[in-house]
Amino acid sequence: MGGKKSDIELLKGGKRTDKRKPEDLREIKMEANVVPNADGSARVQFGNTIALAAVYGPRALFPRFMQEADTGILRTRYNMAPFSVVDRKAPGTDRRSTEISKVTRLALSPSVLLDDFPKATVDVYMEVIQADGSTRVTALNAASIALASAGIPMRGLVAACSCGKIEDTLIVDLNGLEDNFGNADMAVAMLPDKDEISLLQMDGLLTKEEFFKLLNMAKEKCLQIVEQQKSVLKKLYKVDKEMTE
Ligand code: UDP
Repeated sequence: MGGKKSDIELLKGGKRTDKRKPEDLREIKMEANVVPNADGSARVQFGNTIALAAVYGPRALFPRFMQEADTGILRTRYNMAPFSVVDRKAPGTDRRSTEISKVTRLALSPSVLLDDFPKATVDVYMEVIQADGSTRVTALNAASIALASAGIPMRGLVAACSCGKIEDTLIVDLNGLEDNFGNADMAVAMLPDKDEISLLQMDGLLTKEEFFKLLNMAKEKCLQIVEQQKSVLKKLYKVDKEMTE
């Protein structure tokens, strides 16, 4: 949440609390197929924020009244584990997780093509196992890899990045302190290959100029993130050269 006052110096000599420059992402790690029972899954880590995503489906949707006769539907669930933050988080659904479950579905929906799966559902479960800011975008990056590795037809991968303002400086990929005590934060998800934005949420105050500058910074980082997502997926389908000879 942006705008809270604190004595914490978020920017010291041009460096952030974790020594990054304003335009730096944290170290990103991505791995696919980490949940053997799922049809597709992924683990994505941005610094100290870690999210798992598992995809099940397309599978028959029950109860029947929820079925759509001419298309499959996408369902998403975002959850933060009780042990994901230092102050234990109360387990279970709350207003925040309900909101994030909804916005992540809206962010992924423009990508997935479910017309060939009438009466079916594709279920995406996102679990944050360690939280240090920007959990919804980290979870979205994992969900996108998980959907692709499950073989769900997609118009393109969805890549996501947070951005914001601390001490009048524009930054990307907010950590927990920056998210809590910064002036503004924004979550952006997009289909980089289509240049389409599928999620934009903002908290705090920005001028119009700052807003567009930040949006461009986030877009540039999404282009970088999607390349890492693609390379993780390519590794899954790498055919052993000797086997084809
Ligand atoms: N957070 C927390 N406890 C909570 C919810 C959030 O400590 O119950 C922290 C966590 O580090 C999270 C950050 O606050 O990443 C910012 O949360 P926000 O709601 O802005 O969403 P996010 O940036 O994680 O998508």
